[in-house]
Amino acid sequence: MTKIQMKTPLVEMDGDEMTRILWEIIKKELLTPFIDLKTEYYDLGLKHRDETDDQVTRDSAEATKKYGVAVKCATITPNAARVEEYGLKEMWKSPNGTIRAMLDGTVFRTPIVVKGIEPCVKNWKKPITIARHAYGDLYKNVEMRIPAAGTVKMTYTAADGSAVKSVLVHTFNGPGVVQGQHNLDDSITSYARSCFEYALSEKKDLWFSTKDTISKIYDHRFKDIFQEMYDTEYKEKFEKAGITYFYTLIDDAVARIMKSEGGFIWACKNYDGDVMSDMISSAFGSLAMMTSVLVSPHGYYEYEAAHGTVQRHYYKYLKGEETSTNSVATIFAWTGALRKRGELDQIPELSEFADKLEKATIDTIESGKMTGDLARITTLPNPVTLNSEDFIKAIRSTLEKSL
Ligand code: NAD
Repeated sequence: MTKIQMKTPLVEMDGDEMTRILWEIIKKELLTPFIDLKTEYYDLGLKHRDETDDQVTRDSAEATKKYGVAVKCATITPNAARVEEYGLKEMWKSPNGTIRAMLDGTVFRTPIVVKGIEPCVKNWKKPITIARHAYGDLYKNVEMRIPAAGTVKMTYTAADGSAVKSVLVHTFNGPGVVQGQHNLDDSITSYARSCFEYALSEKKDLWFSTKDTISKIYDHRFKDIFQEMYDTEYKEKFEKAGITYFYTLIDDAVARIMKSEGGFIWACKNYDGDVMSDMISSAFGSLAMMTSVLVSPHGYYEYEAAHGTVQRHYYKYLKGEETSTNSVATIFAWTGALRKRGELDQIPELSEFADKLEKATIDTIESGKMTGDLARITTLPNPVTLNSEDFIKAIRSTLEKSL
């Protein structure tokens, strides 16, 4: 069999612990036998980040800007315990945070739906992708405790001193609390662009929700920025792609989503996205069945699993014990990246391979072969629990039959 040829390399960001072990097996069993895999490799394992003073993380983000598509393994975000465990020079920042700051992107999380792992909401037939604006509002607020009666005002002074605007927040008759929030047109604009671009790239409807009936200036600004961009830049493209942009109030969105069958992208403000992404992932069943892609408004894509490095399994692995770690989200990170590379470089066989590998993964689970985390929650009768490596090999055997 001739291997599928690639044109542009994928930026490969290797990671830590159990997911690093899976990474290697996925490449060996599911990718390199079928694809002449071209990657530019960056080792984001904690040890190497420490050795390079985290330069490798920044280099990998720069490479993503150069080539456009990256695939990332889960990585440790060090805390005090990790500093000691790895003898780190510093408590390095989260690689995801560093990469996101450099690519200025939005994270879209999508559950992987299989028969036998049923969402709690029985009418959800297709995945719901959730996007969270990652700047401002509650997360960059200032707050004050008000000790006793008095007045609070909010004041804006122009940088050149030419204008001053002031509004009364509240006249307190007794103690209370007060909070100031902000957001930036630039940040909202790039969020909107990432959402429209991703909806087009996935050919899925885009929903956006705020509370503009109550917040007539603040939330209304979000609504207007999205609407203006849609009308001037995306309306025609959406119509051509047969998808829609739908704005609604957050409470209406929640009510509709509970009754929908899924299959769309839901863009949320920062706080709504924080809360709703946990609801969606838990309602769909498992963190190990959730992919995540960082989409930058400049057209860069970085694919990964939504879960962490599965530390507990890694310690078992180090002791030589058998593990049954779910590799599905990591496999889908690779397929997402390969499909995107196939689209950008016009290599249809690469995109088709990604589709077939995803189908082989789902078919394997639906045939009753799965990892322990899924075997514990599946509604399929008599599931067979496989160890980490055998599960990937089972997918390979399903895949080979379809090629
Ligand atoms: P985790 O996602 O690794 O694990 C959380 C829980 O879910 C554990 O009980 C784990 O056993 C289970 N789980 C997660 N993925 C699984 C899988 N594929 N198969 C079977 N079970 C799975 O998160 P954590 O334990 O909070 O963090 C471990 C490390 O991962 C930390 O060092 C953290 O910094 C890092 N982390 C990285 C990312 C990322 O790189 N995107 C995200 C989250 C956490």
